[in-house]
Amino acid sequence: MYEVQRAVLGPIATNGYVVWHQETLDAVLIDPGPTPGLLLHHAQGVHVQAILITHAHWDHIAGLKEVADAHPVPILVHSLEQDWLTDPSLNRSSLSSALAGGLVTGPAATRLVADGEQLSFGALSFAVAHLPGHSPGHVAYLSKDHVFSGDLLFEAAVGRTDIPGGDPAQLLESLGRLRTLAAGKRIHPGHGRSFTIGQPDPPPVVQGPLR
Ligand SMILES: [Zn+2]
Ligand SMILES: [Zn+2]
Repeated sequence: MYEVQRAVLGPIATNGYVVWHQETLDAVLIDPGPTPGLLLHHAQGVHVQAILITHAHWDHIAGLKEVADAHPVPILVHSLEQDWLTDPSLNRSSLSSALAGGLVTGPAATRLVADGEQLSFGALSFAVAHLPGHSPGHVAYLSKDHVFSGDLLFEAAVGRTDIPGGDPAQLLESLGRLRTLAAGKRIHPGHGRSFTIGQPDPPPVVQGPLR
């Protein structure tokens, strides 16, 4: 069984996650957003093995330096966004530096991931799905019961495609893939509450007098 703890981070409420194996306490951190103190707090007592990045917009990586200083473990990102970790114009912190708490310039990735890859960290394992549209190198990390879906899909909205690198047609295709991949799993998005898709709708509420 995997445990998931969410930490809501920074000025636009980015979700960072600590995911750990109930028995071994092997753990990964996902999306170290700005001012990641709460994420680090939740990671006390588990064995952090890696930092996984769904995509490298600044709101998902502004806390990376602080988190990597505390946990010097591999940093994983899709190859298409490798350069974004160290380039403030690519990660957009140059346009939002007041919000981002300054320019986001690294640290650099230490391992690049690709679609279909299987990742293992001690007793934890995740599949990588490359799901572009919100950004070109956007990925989701999937375990047996959980999906960490970044900014592709939220509880009541789909991801933005108006930021440079976004692509509405790719987003639609990725949403279709996610629907299949995530069936029966809990979805943990980059912002807002976790949810599940593929559940039948609840029965309609009957309104008005019954005859
Ligand atoms: Zn984003
Ligand atoms: Zn975001």
